[in-house]
Amino acid sequence: MKILLLGGTKEARDLAQELVTQGHRVISSLAGQVKSPRLPAGEIRIGGFGGISGLKTYITAHSIDLVIDATHPFAAQITSNAITASKELAVPYLNFERPSWENHDDAASWHWVTDNSAAAATIGCLGDRPFLSCGRKTLPNFLDWQNFALVRVVDPLTIAVPRAWKIILSRGPYFFTDELKLIEKNRINLLITKDSGGVHTEAKLEVAKQLGIPVVVISRPKIPQEYLKFEKITEVLAWLESVKKN
Ligand code: NAP
Repeated sequence: MKILLLGGTKEARDLAQELVTQGHRVISSLAGQVKSPRLPAGEIRIGGFGGISGLKTYITAHSIDLVIDATHPFAAQITSNAITASKELAVPYLNFERPSWENHDDAASWHWVTDNSAAAATIGCLGDRPFLSCGRKTLPNFLDWQNFALVRVVDPLTIAVPRAWKIILSRGPYFFTDELKLIEKNRINLLITKDSGGVHTEAKLEVAKQLGIPVVVISRPKIPQEYLKFEKITEVLAWLESVKKN
């Protein structure tokens, strides 16, 4: 099978490694938004396709048999493009996504919101020293907050933010002890995150629980139910095996 694997996540790299090991031809696609991305096994292409039509052209030109979308759960545009392009070309689309935090032990105690603006509205009400751990793309929604906020991003920001904000550059995974140190040192009293899911960035949630800090979680965009959706590499491999047999 020749697989186009839309990536940019640890899960996509893990999957690429396994698929290559199993003998599949994998072309991993990265958006090119991170300066020095961690590169997956197999072939790699970098940069946007040019919307749905560009993606369709790519899929056709490279005789792709299957599109696996292992992009971040909040990368909604590329997911929507991939679903449409695959449908129009009748090429199978499979969504591979890390598990949501909806079933996390503490999920019921968090404040779930459906969008960034609702998350921003909690600042000042639930806490006034927020840790904005929800990604650079969400930051424009928080700019009205001119007081202290801790922001963690991979690459330097390209937008102007309030002077009182503290920006730190780093890349996960993150572990409990370091997260505890960071949150205590900055006297954080509100954690705002999106439902990224998985274990890579989960430690901050444990710290918030231990310190009694309110947690605001932005819900994920939903993948329509009719599409194949797996959370484990073994499920993807089993599905590929079943397709091969038929
Ligand atoms: P997005 O809003 O869904 O996509 C914006 C545009 O970026 C897409 O229309 C597409 O451009 C291009 N693009 C996105 N992912 C691509 C990929 N894997 N390969 C080629 N082009 C891609 O995506 P985003 O939220 O900016 O995320 C960009 C990348 O960072 C994704 O690959 C994602 O997995 C990764 N990432 C995102 C987050 C997050 O919180 N959103 C967190 C960690 C990692 P064209 O229309 O020109 O094709």
